[in-house]
Amino acid sequence: MTNGANWKPQTKLVHGGTLRSGFGETSEAIYLTQGFVYDTAEAAEARFKGEAEGFIYSRYANPTVDMFEKRMCALEGAEDARATASGMAAVAMALLCSVKAGDHVVAARALFGSCRWIIEKQMPAYGVESTLVDGTDLSAWEKGIRPNTKLFFLESPTNPTLEVADIAAVAKLADSIGARLVVDNVFATPMQQKPLELGAHVVVYSATKHIDGQGRCLGGIVLSDKEWIEKNLHDYFRHTGPSLSPFNAWTLLKGLETLPLRVRQQTESAGRIADFLAGHTHVERLIYPGRADHPQADIVKKQMKGGSTLLCIDVKGGKQGAFAFQNALEIIRISNNLGDAKSLITHPATTTHKNLTEEARAELGINPGTVRLSVGLEDVDDLMTDIDRALSRAA
Ligand SMILES: *Cc1c(COP(=O)(O)O)cnc(C)c1O
Repeated sequence: MTNGANWKPQTKLVHGGTLRSGFGETSEAIYLTQGFVYDTAEAAEARFKGEAEGFIYSRYANPTVDMFEKRMCALEGAEDARATASGMAAVAMALLCSVKAGDHVVAARALFGSCRWIIEKQMPAYGVESTLVDGTDLSAWEKGIRPNTKLFFLESPTNPTLEVADIAAVAKLADSIGARLVVDNVFATPMQQKPLELGAHVVVYSATKHIDGQGRCLGGIVLSDKEWIEKNLHDYFRHTGPSLSPFNAWTLLKGLETLPLRVRQQTESAGRIADFLAGHTHVERLIYPGRADHPQADIVKKQMKGGSTLLCIDVKGGKQGAFAFQNALEIIRISNNLGDAKSLITHPATTTHKNLTEEARAELGINPGTVRLSVGLEDVDDLMTDIDRALSRAA
């Protein structure tokens, strides 16, 4: 079999990284084992010395997890990767292994809640200073730089207001000061945006979202060049143990096989729902990357292949309106997960972003009436009927 370097993404997602055992199984095997046995004491010694190939312990590496990492590398165009037990483990690993006390980090202020906690709370506790900036404003990134800035971090599109940062421009700025840019690419998915190709140095995913895509398990992954992984991440990962379970790696491998089909369908449906909601009498604001009225439509066009599977909507009537709308939905369920086959809706101000101050929420454009809709795989006409009926009832 070829190494698949020339395969198109969809082929890589079905066959990439496959490690077939002697039994010749069709579907990837689940190696639910903590450790591995050696034929001789000498063989164990050689493997620990790194002189012989092979697995040692599943905290370090495991064949099923390895398949997931290799398949993700093939898709992302990354040299190396480490899969983690959750998306937050991936983010924490990527950020914390990159800095030491005395360093400084610049991050976009619109971040997934726990990511913002690492930057705002955990980093300073370890002697790493951080500055939060408006990620869509390149001059704000520039102003945030200090002589000891070592790391940039952003998410694009952001949760929940779907702001889009110019990844290539921020990466160039990072390069100009010898800093590294880490991109949380969850909302874009690997199908619609390739941060490494845009110049970012590290990309992280919560595989819990679209990569699983069916609400079954947690997972995450950090992807980058081999040198950075070996120098920065490798030891930190091995000795702190955020490893992905082989069973969850298998679930995610199965998720990757259908990722392009799901993301394409969910994006198409989200686009139709966005067009339907734009100008709807009960909707105050609609944000959808992929529409010409998106605030960063030109950057979306430049760096993304498609829109998004998510929409941000402000329902008329503030919190009361948003709650009444959610409660009146029959197909779309209230949940804070996203990227799922099931359409899910959440009210950020009282759930995912409840820990921010009101001012911080206002700064991010999270209003009392704001809801985030993750579009699933249901029939889009059923979804639009559900939304339309619930909006009328809420009004
Ligand atoms: C969900 C999410 C995470 C965290 O992932 P978990 O798998 O829940 O730990 C990080 N960043 C973004 C943008 C997310 O949506």
